[in-house]
Amino acid sequence: MTKKNIALRAARRGWPVIPLNWAMNGRCSCNDLNCSSVGKHPITAHGVKDATTKRSTIRRWWHEFPKANIGVATGMVSNLTVLDVDPRHGGENSLRRFEKQNGPLPNGPAARTGSGGFHYYFKYSPEIVGNKIALMPGIDVKTDGGYVVHPGSRHKSGKRYVWLLGRSPKKVSTVPVPESLLRLTNPAKAPNKAPECEPMIPEGGRNSTLASLAGTMRSRGMTYEAIEAALLEDNSLRCDPPLPDFEVRNIARSISQYASGDVRILSSTSKDDDEKERKLHFRTGKQIAVEAPAKVPWLVRPFVVIGGITEVDGKVKLAGKTTFLTYMAAAVLDGSLFLGQQTSQTNVVYLTEQHLVSFRAAIERANLLGRSDFHVLNWTDTIGVKWKSIVQAAVTECKRQNAKLLIVDTLPQFAGLVGDKKNNSGDALEAMRPLQEAAKLGIAIVIARHERKSGGSAADSGRGSSAFAGIADIILSIRRQGENQPRNIRLIQKESRFDGPDELLVELTDEGYRALGAPGEVARQRAADDLLSAIPQSRKEAMTIEDLAASTGKKRAYLQRFLDHLEANRKILKRGRGRKGSPFRYFQNEIHSA
Ligand SMILES: [Zn+2]
Repeated sequence: MTKKNIALRAARRGWPVIPLNWAMNGRCSCNDLNCSSVGKHPITAHGVKDATTKRSTIRRWWHEFPKANIGVATGMVSNLTVLDVDPRHGGENSLRRFEKQNGPLPNGPAARTGSGGFHYYFKYSPEIVGNKIALMPGIDVKTDGGYVVHPGSRHKSGKRYVWLLGRSPKKVSTVPVPESLLRLTNPAKAPNKAPECEPMIPEGGRNSTLASLAGTMRSRGMTYEAIEAALLEDNSLRCDPPLPDFEVRNIARSISQYASGDVRILSSTSKDDDEKERKLHFRTGKQIAVEAPAKVPWLVRPFVVIGGITEVDGKVKLAGKTTFLTYMAAAVLDGSLFLGQQTSQTNVVYLTEQHLVSFRAAIERANLLGRSDFHVLNWTDTIGVKWKSIVQAAVTECKRQNAKLLIVDTLPQFAGLVGDKKNNSGDALEAMRPLQEAAKLGIAIVIARHERKSGGSAADSGRGSSAFAGIADIILSIRRQGENQPRNIRLIQKESRFDGPDELLVELTDEGYRALGAPGEVARQRAADDLLSAIPQSRKEAMTIEDLAASTGKKRAYLQRFLDHLEANRKILKRGRGRKGSPFRYFQNEIHSA
């Protein structure tokens, strides 16, 4: 089975997938000779956040990267919590010890990894918060925000990840994480801890706990080397997540400076670090479940989200960014469909860099001229005003007019990112900051940028710094599809934190934009239409597949698939018996071929 089909099958189970890099002769397809995660890290821009069950996206990914390994997102999105047993770090021994104490793991889906380890797939458990690294030596738990390499993928060693015999998800279904394992991931819950199972050290207490342990060791007369070794082990086994090794070494070094009889338990630096850690507000998965909306709050599905930033890129004048944005604004003002998708009604504040004369023409086309719920700020009126103050004024106007959509066309012009500043990521980040603040107030922000000449993917097509793209939640790139395509057709490429990359062909008509569909589907539909028109209309003139191959120049196998498809949809009928002397002959079904 191809990687694509394996990915599609996983998606059919409800497991969102992402394409991962793959190994070629032990080297990673990312081309980084020092890659530390050969054949295992995601190809897409936002990593596991891009994981999807959407078939068209999956097909396109593996069409582009047929060799890509398959990643499956773990956690609530897939209803999976996966136990990852790595033999190179003693995982098998740990598991053996665990099973001796608690009985064998229940019989759910399980895979052998390319490195000879195991993945045990369980039902998602919300009680396990965050991915646990080294829960036991060599044993990790993957849940929300994590992913695992799915069977069918190939390890850098050349070995495949495979389901264990009788343990594929087709044969057995996922079972809940056993209570014994839950206790291990959350030691606070353990009624009577096994003596060899020491409590985990959470963030906010790692520095001080390790320093205190080091102090105890030093007071017992242990050497620096011994303290360092013990601390590194404690750090990797008990700290959640572990501190970087160099920080652990620093703790060992600073404590070892004291004579064994004169150890102050805490070094002052580690106290400061703990203080800093505590000031940061961490949310549990439970809190996020309450605080964050479960549904994406779309303003214009799937392009603009309330509280988010959408970037629209396209070549100066040619792409039609302003046309796109003004038509979108018109749909939002009416709460009507845009490109066949729902919008939610709100007023609009629009910052334009165009002269009012040319902008007047643009909004006239989009039926915005004369409207009193469409509020425009012209760039020439902002000259000499700081960008921060412009945003402030725009936010105030949004509040006053009850507008939830703010469009900045274009951002570099309004933010004063000209000359060298255009390419400076520091300036770009600074320009985005006031907009991020505005988004936090529940405003949907759309920024336009002129695309540089070379093009590229949606995420890096904007002119200047890619820092914008890192902050934007959704990036749209609008372009013409080449010289021989109709002038009113545009390709919109979308990269999004919400539903992965996508492509859409749109046509600008007198009534506004019309969605034509994904480019591949459009081409397929066109091919199907062409083929259908080559098939005779009357039963009398019915043609054999050979005749059709001769008249269309298409291969037999290709034609057969199409004919089967058309026949299944009752678009065509056939006569004949499908054997020598009486071959099948096809003709259009007049009832169904409009
Ligand atoms: Zn790599």
